[in-house]
Amino acid sequence: MSEEAFDQEVDVLVVGSGMGGMTAALVAAGHGLDALVVEKTAKYGGSSALSGGGVWVPNNPVLVRAGLADSLDRARTYMHSVVGDRIPAARVEAFLTRGPEAIDWLERNTKDVRFRWVKGYADYHPEAPGGEPLGRTLEPVPVDLRRLGPDEETLNTNPLMKGPAGLWTTQSDYRYLTQALTTWKGRRTVLKVAIRTWWTKMTGRHMTALGAAGVARFRLALKDAGVPLWLDSPLKSLIVEGDAVVGACVDHGGVEIRIRARRGVVLAAGGFERNAEMRQRYQQAPINATWTSGAEGNTGDAIVAGQDVGAAVDLMDDAWWFPSVEASGAGLMILAERSLPGCIIVNGQGERYVNEATAYVNFVHRMYELDEPGVPTIPSYLILDQRYRDRYPFVAVPPRRPLPRYFDKYGIVTRADSLEELASKLNLPPDKLAATVARFNVMANAGRDEDFNKGESAYDRYYGDPGNRPNPCLAPLTKPPFYAFRIVPGDLGTKGGLVTDADARVLRADGSAIRGLYATGNTSASVMGNDYAGAGATIGPAIVFGYVAACRLAAETPVTV
Ligand SMILES: Cc1cc2nc3c(=O)[nH]c(=O)nc-3n(C[C@H](O)[C@H](O)[C@H](O)COP(=O)(O)OP(=O)(O)OC[C@H]3O[C@@H](n4cnc5c(N)ncnc54)[C@H](O)[C@@H]3O)c2cc1C
Repeated sequence: MSEEAFDQEVDVLVVGSGMGGMTAALVAAGHGLDALVVEKTAKYGGSSALSGGGVWVPNNPVLVRAGLADSLDRARTYMHSVVGDRIPAARVEAFLTRGPEAIDWLERNTKDVRFRWVKGYADYHPEAPGGEPLGRTLEPVPVDLRRLGPDEETLNTNPLMKGPAGLWTTQSDYRYLTQALTTWKGRRTVLKVAIRTWWTKMTGRHMTALGAAGVARFRLALKDAGVPLWLDSPLKSLIVEGDAVVGACVDHGGVEIRIRARRGVVLAAGGFERNAEMRQRYQQAPINATWTSGAEGNTGDAIVAGQDVGAAVDLMDDAWWFPSVEASGAGLMILAERSLPGCIIVNGQGERYVNEATAYVNFVHRMYELDEPGVPTIPSYLILDQRYRDRYPFVAVPPRRPLPRYFDKYGIVTRADSLEELASKLNLPPDKLAATVARFNVMANAGRDEDFNKGESAYDRYYGDPGNRPNPCLAPLTKPPFYAFRIVPGDLGTKGGLVTDADARVLRADGSAIRGLYATGNTSASVMGNDYAGAGATIGPAIVFGYVAACRLAAETPVTV
């Protein structure tokens, strides 16, 4: 209860400046509402800006225009095969039916928010009913950051997404860059990207792609719409009157101010990946908050604020897992590296236990399921040979280039001239590792992984090397030296949070909606349940439910008590 005066009034207060929050603010403004975005850190964009910028929304107008034969029915079938009954059908249906509407709205009502299809980026379970081998992923159209003016400085950016020598790349190009030495398409793509980068330099432009381009485009649209974005302004608590949320306390310029939100508050402050205490409390051990690649500011503040006013939470034990190399207190995500031919991942007994190329969330689920004393899968070890290093990049280190010195200094890589020596350095049983590699090599030469079907799925092959025959994901490990990297359960962020309904309203445990309170993105329990439908299945729903929340807020009468 609160009788105190407010320092500021808006129609809609949005907490968090990722793509979910920015969508909500933009759509609210588009409906004539007065919106304000508050961001905790000194930079805007959160994980959305650090990301690859993939946006998974089935059957949307960009896909339709590009000629993909998708339909609501197919998408529904697929979502059912991926999510099952884990999430209420009405919420899944809202994602599927409102998704195309959201993308359409953004294209029609902004001049800057623009996406294009990443053709060929298969859904993560393309062989499941309704799955799409050509993919349903969009990515933001690259943008010149100079257009942001002074806001270029405060855009969150990910140094790991930058290519060597200032190369900038799109999602569509990335897979081909890994084939620079092995396919003509790879070579042509390197040339294209190099010319593009050179041209960017010559013309003095600050071109960027991926998630940073997406957030930059949303930022331009917010400016056009006259929506203010306050940096260094964390949400502290929600203000409740009667049974409704009517505003929030926000730290602004070092002073705590009370903001009244006449229609409601949209919580879009990301997950709790950077909160060690919450991770220990909700998630399976071993876990810590440094293996994540998520944004620094994502410490679960909005989830806790929601719980404080009676909201229920779900999926808190899960995350957007990503097998990652442990690198001096951080996680380096391992994506294409797992699909490219000539690498295996083994447990503490030197045995393979999973299709290395499998989608990242499923991979780490398997790590946790199988981890047990004596046969640990956490950590696991990714092992590759010199042939692999001669052909393919490894976490942004181009092929044939030496791994950076800090890899050795911080024990990120272990090298050996024989598998036996490697096993002894890693404390793995040498005979078992030798047997694993011997069996793998026979299967690789035959082109068929009889143990885990690596390279059978269209998703595995997306990041494989088509120049490698007979299987784009399999090659024997024979050429010393051998390299090993410790693999831990990293993540892109957490996926558990406040329970919301089909309108993005935050719910109590009894299923009733908390008036005036909405959530989207990783602050809310994901519509994907325990799985991950395709590249962009976190940002896609964040955008869709940001849109849904704002539409609902526009239709609501102001919250009065
Ligand atoms: C390297 C990387 C690559 C990825 N690639 C993809 C991809 O291609 N496709 C995809 O779908 N997903 C991808 N992800 C995951 C995706 O980026 C996130 O799941 C998604 O961006 C979350 O969006 P959000 O709006 O919930 O939160 P965010 O984008 O993280 O934004 C939340 C914001 O809220 C702010 N905040 C936190 N607490 C407060 C507070 N108290 N008050 C005010 N503000 C607060 C944070 O500082 C942050 O800026 C990737 C993630 C990473 C790290």
